[in-house]
Amino acid sequence: MSNNRGRILSGMRPTGRLHLGNLEGALRNWVALQNDYECFFEVADWHALTTAWQDTGEIRANVRELVIDWLSAGIDPQKSVVFVQSEIKEHAELFLLLGMLSGVGWLERCTTYKDWIAKNFEPNYGLLGYPVLQCADIAIYKADTVPVGKDQLQHLEMSRELVRRFNNTYGEVLVEPKEKLTEFPDLPGTDGQKMSKSHGNEIQIAESPETLQQKLRGMFTDPQKLRRGDPGRPEVCAVFKLHTVYNPDETAAIDPPCRTGDLGCVECKGKLHGAMLQALAPLREKRAELEKSPKHIDDVLEDGNHRARAVAQQTLAEVRETMKI
Ligand code: SF4
Repeated sequence: MSNNRGRILSGMRPTGRLHLGNLEGALRNWVALQNDYECFFEVADWHALTTAWQDTGEIRANVRELVIDWLSAGIDPQKSVVFVQSEIKEHAELFLLLGMLSGVGWLERCTTYKDWIAKNFEPNYGLLGYPVLQCADIAIYKADTVPVGKDQLQHLEMSRELVRRFNNTYGEVLVEPKEKLTEFPDLPGTDGQKMSKSHGNEIQIAESPETLQQKLRGMFTDPQKLRRGDPGRPEVCAVFKLHTVYNPDETAAIDPPCRTGDLGCVECKGKLHGAMLQALAPLREKRAELEKSPKHIDDVLEDGNHRARAVAQQTLAEVRETMKI
């Protein structure tokens, strides 16, 4: 890999199968970034523990499912380093060292942490230290760029601050990461709210044609359009929003008959089902192929872990040297 390109670190927590919001909001972006950056994509299994530490039975299976989703969507392990956080123990050592520079009051001001407390989640040390581990994840690879949405800017700012604190204290070893702001329209889930696992309204990437049809059938539309003949408003309809993503060529033909009432929601959802099956077919086929090759997934992870570890060990050697420990 060329060292002249910027280096990106990004990751996802293995908390279950990915949904279309993940695909359109992050994965498509990752796939494009592979051509312009040296990318490190992390399966953040330690981060998954901060909120699900009691229930670890599914984590290993989820790690594999996540990697299968990534590869199906076009992540190329020849171009990018795909690795598992817990396999690279150097993250933990840098986390510990950076923890010494992280004031408790400073961490308590993190919005995500405050949100969890507001939801009556009993805070643990891991959750408080989440931004420190995230900083270690980025800094251990000297990543100079991190793709983020607006809601993740505070975490990145905390990483930048921590890296500056480290460099000012011990010497310029770590790289201050900058954000690559990526904004995507939120994809609606089946209930019309933002698609999210926590809302239980998601449509998975790996949905079968049957379950996809079932979910679209139950999907919220314009609440004022109760039957065919009633005028509809595409601008408030979640189904129409998905048409704009998966069936863009037909939206101009759907809008007028929706408004006049000539198009019924059942028929409209049928059109969307067909368009989505077609748009997602390559991904589903690739997924089915990968599911049959567990050895290939093992090989991808072994190679990615090996490449990630080599970089992490080098950075940590420099960190120890400059800290004189
Ligand atoms: S016809 Fe289509 S766009 Fe119009 S309200 Fe029904 S599902 Fe939505």
